[in-house]
Amino acid sequence: MHLTPSACPAKSLGPAPRAPCIGRFAPSPTGPLHFGSLVAALGSCLEARHQGGQWLLRIEDVDAPRTIPGATDAILHQLEALGFCWDGEVVYQSQRLALYQQALDQLIASRKAFPCACTRRELADSTLAPDGSRRYPGTCRDGLRPEQQARAWRLRTEPGLITWEDAIQGVQQEDVFRDVGDFVLLRADGQYAYQLAVVVDDALQGVTHVVRGADLLGSTARQIFLHKALGLAVPAYTHLPVATNAAGEKLSKQTLAQAVDTQAPVSSLYMALCFLGQHPPADLAQASLPDIWAWSHTNWSQIKVPRAKALIAPAQMLHNSAI
Ligand code: GLU
Repeated sequence: MHLTPSACPAKSLGPAPRAPCIGRFAPSPTGPLHFGSLVAALGSCLEARHQGGQWLLRIEDVDAPRTIPGATDAILHQLEALGFCWDGEVVYQSQRLALYQQALDQLIASRKAFPCACTRRELADSTLAPDGSRRYPGTCRDGLRPEQQARAWRLRTEPGLITWEDAIQGVQQEDVFRDVGDFVLLRADGQYAYQLAVVVDDALQGVTHVVRGADLLGSTARQIFLHKALGLAVPAYTHLPVATNAAGEKLSKQTLAQAVDTQAPVSSLYMALCFLGQHPPADLAQASLPDIWAWSHTNWSQIKVPRAKALIAPAQMLHNSAI
């Protein structure tokens, strides 16, 4: 791929210059921001700023059927009302399809991607991957029969442990070939897969630090594998605890998570700081928006974030009024 200098620094003699930190927040416009997405936005922003870096905003609207009309505007409005400031223009995945196709073409040309004719029903009996999806049994790896038609394109995985150190969740390991199998790059419905889009975008935007919810921990090995298959630099990964309801279910549209209230931005930020283990002083809950941001920038410490995959969100954040 044609890389930006920061995504793939040229080899030079002597110690490599330290890449500037670039973080990002990458919400999918499937609904307005809820407390869980606020936690990811805040944690990724404060860590990038703490490292003196940039913080980018990318709207992950590559999955057209899941995109809800009006959700992008709602998210941008909420982020602004909460006092978030991102660097540069907002990037929309729906405007970057040519880049995903270019990456897919590169993988096809190097025989790392192959066409797959399997239907969902044909894969229904294969074992479950850790994220609940079906492990691909390799049916079409060696080519399609003449009468078969390609439905999807998959990445050819290889056995071997992918090991990385997550800044909060510790050392992680996964054998993508064994646990997930050859995963989808272009879906049967013609949509580019999230895994492909996120890897291309993180690399081409020069993202060095991915900070996001631990619900995506199970995607990380696949993303590292894909970064390497495309010859792209692998970012550092940090997975924050996911916010759940009292039943332990991740806040989401499916679990009827409430939108973050833009009328009370300070109290929402205050609760997100508490959730992230920052122990803000009690009087900060009544502070002005600039003051709570100033406190956050001065006091942010990633080391204080609880080393948990999930935590229950404060009750007020489950039942506030809609925006
Ligand atoms: N778009 C994904 C989501 O909203 C996040 C992707 C990521 O941070 O890598 O869940």
